[in-house]
Amino acid sequence: MQIAVASGKGGTGKTTIATSLALSLASLAKVRYFDCDVEAPNGHLFLKPEFTESTPAVIRIPQIQTEKCTACGRCVEVCEFHALAKVGKNILVFPQLCHGCGSCTWNCPENAIVEVPNPIGTIERGMALENIEFFRGLLTISEPMPTPIIRQLKKRMQPQPNTINIYDAPPGASCSVVETLRGVDFALLVTEPTPFGLHDLKQMLGILADMHIPSGIVINRDGIGDDSLEETLREYNVPVLLRVPFDRKLAENLAAGRTLVDVYPEYGGILRELYQQITEIMGGKAK
Ligand code: SF4
Ligand code: SF4
Repeated sequence: MQIAVASGKGGTGKTTIATSLALSLASLAKVRYFDCDVEAPNGHLFLKPEFTESTPAVIRIPQIQTEKCTACGRCVEVCEFHALAKVGKNILVFPQLCHGCGSCTWNCPENAIVEVPNPIGTIERGMALENIEFFRGLLTISEPMPTPIIRQLKKRMQPQPNTINIYDAPPGASCSVVETLRGVDFALLVTEPTPFGLHDLKQMLGILADMHIPSGIVINRDGIGDDSLEETLREYNVPVLLRVPFDRKLAENLAAGRTLVDVYPEYGGILRELYQQITEIMGGKAK
């Protein structure tokens, strides 16, 4: 089973739910936790893994061999990301816009492009407890594009028997979230009952519908705000699978690096029941 925990707006408690879900399910199966929030990963603050591997995340960017280039401009035309530009008879490469897709190389009629490695961050692996394998991507500060590193992180996502993969998605509804969601069985959307972020949540629900990914809602800090969230959820017909009441004691403990199940152990059983609800919604279709 592959479950993404996403939000829409940041700060709704996505990592709070993702980390405690991982801890709760670790008694049922091996859990693999992927922190895909590569610009500001913080799952490690709660699960406290011991990292034992660190590998560079690299994309391959084009380098133009000017002696072969005829300045036909084909590479510029095929680059969807505007990472190439033709200026006079020269082709300029903008590495920070390049996604390393290789399209320009494939389409160059003169074989005038070679690809050179460009490091964009690191992928780290470790264990948290004995049953939670923890992966995180770390985007190098100044690198603008999180998507390629998420793609590399998720190369490790192959389903394994009796293993639950949990993906802690980046906040927002950008292409890095779409990359995180690609290939998952189910998305758990964590939100709070305030008008703030409702726009992002609606965007997320639209994206999930387009990607045909079933979803359910966790309402965090239940009891604050107004009814606009409930009205939206009725409109989109998405089930609410869990409500976590607003609680100052919990907020203080989370700020100190403790998890929801550290503070309230009864959430272990509640989150296992939530997982049971997800498997029922999936009807045995999960990989
Ligand atoms: S590798 Fe892809 S993204 Fe990068 S310059 Fe070539 S076509 Fe554009
Ligand atoms: S496609 Fe090849 S030959 Fe044409 S402009 Fe680009 S690098 Fe030069």
